[in-house]
Amino acid sequence: MDLTLSPDELAFQQHVHEFLEAELKPEWRGVSDIDNRTQPEIMAQWQAVLAAKGWLTAGWPAANGGLGWSPMQHHIFKEACSQARAPKISTMSIGMIGPLICVFGNPEQHAFYLPRIISGADIWCQGFSEPGSGSDLASLKTAARREGEDYVVLGQKIWTTYAHVATQMFCLVRTDPLAARPQAGISMLLIDMKLPGITVRPIHTIDGEHHFNEVFFDDVRVPVSCLLGGEHKGWDVARALLAFERSGIADVVATRQLLGDVAAIAAGENRGDGRLLDEGDFADRLTKLEIALDALEILEMRVMDAAERKAARDHDASMLKILGSELKQKIHMLGIEALGIFAAAWPDDDAPVHPSGAGAKLVVDALFARATSIYGGANEVQRNIVAKILLKSAFEI
Ligand SMILES: Cc1cc2nc3c(=O)[nH]c(=O)nc-3n(C[C@H](O)[C@H](O)[C@H](O)COP(=O)(O)OP(=O)(O)OC[C@H]3O[C@@H](n4cnc5c(N)ncnc54)[C@H](O)[C@@H]3O)c2cc1C
Repeated sequence: MDLTLSPDELAFQQHVHEFLEAELKPEWRGVSDIDNRTQPEIMAQWQAVLAAKGWLTAGWPAANGGLGWSPMQHHIFKEACSQARAPKISTMSIGMIGPLICVFGNPEQHAFYLPRIISGADIWCQGFSEPGSGSDLASLKTAARREGEDYVVLGQKIWTTYAHVATQMFCLVRTDPLAARPQAGISMLLIDMKLPGITVRPIHTIDGEHHFNEVFFDDVRVPVSCLLGGEHKGWDVARALLAFERSGIADVVATRQLLGDVAAIAAGENRGDGRLLDEGDFADRLTKLEIALDALEILEMRVMDAAERKAARDHDASMLKILGSELKQKIHMLGIEALGIFAAAWPDDDAPVHPSGAGAKLVVDALFARATSIYGGANEVQRNIVAKILLKSAFEI
């Protein structure tokens, strides 16, 4: 795979930079740096700008506004947005449920949900995990029994990111408790979070923020028209998410920004005779992480390229998830080390913050980054997937 930008790609890169320069309001720049969750109003405004250009849904199927961008074009776009510190767009809406509805939704669902996803009118959350059903998701128990034109949902979800602000949830429920295989008895419902019987209870994380929640369903009546992809077909629908998640799963662009922040902190730190950035052991470790990130970036592009040629391997996503999440955690830890005494300060405290500006939020982010090796499928389980596939093919030789 040739990673040198072609003349067309260079022209596209230039076009994206010019677009961002012209359209990105100064007050939007950096909002996602300050707050992990971009304010819904800002997100909606930025999404409208991207939608008008046709770029918001670039990764969707062509029939629903997709542009058929190459992996490199996606990468160029993401990188440029990150460099310009553009607001984040909703991964859950634009990257997950949007394309899922494009593929599995009926015409009525397309007409109702897709415009609301694009405009940001709906904020989505993902109701998969339950107490006792995380890695072993197929064991989920939240029940949906059919009564006339409704499903009556009873059960509990947990770790539901943004359920406290979401207007809709894509939710896996058990519609056939007697199915021969647990996977065969699962359906996906699109649930309006305002329906009576839904209770959202916050769970606060170690970074002091409110990211996720417990969600309780107490005989919630969900219209049958909210079923996505057919009754008992929820497992296939959920698995299809993997295909959309391959691109960007390693989070290379954001991690490169983080590496730059850590280098900036170290450049401003004097230890011993000079800058920490130039100190042998520190510089050595920073460089090794940079090389690992370069390698990961190339691997990610190779995987995206293979996906485009329909040659993706089943363990590709797992591999990117493991390498990307663990690299991010290592860079965060080096950042904490560079901050020294400043790492003890909490952003809300009156304690002095690091003069680099990057320091204040790094501690909070580093704490949240512990979660990257858990969400989206715990890394131990991803390692099992990689080992199972690779060892199987090794033994087949
Ligand atoms: C920040 C964050 C946000 C999240 N957001 C959402 C969300 O929006 N929606 C949602 O549905 N879920 C969400 N989750 C939940 C996430 O998907 C689960 O935490 C994850 O799938 C792991 O499940 P679990 O927590 O039940 O852990 P468990 O499955 O109980 O695992 C506990 C430990 O055992 C290990 N383990 C489990 N099985 C095996 C095995 N077979 N072999 C080896 N080791 C094993 C795991 O790796 C882990 O270390 C979120 C989680 C986090 C941390």
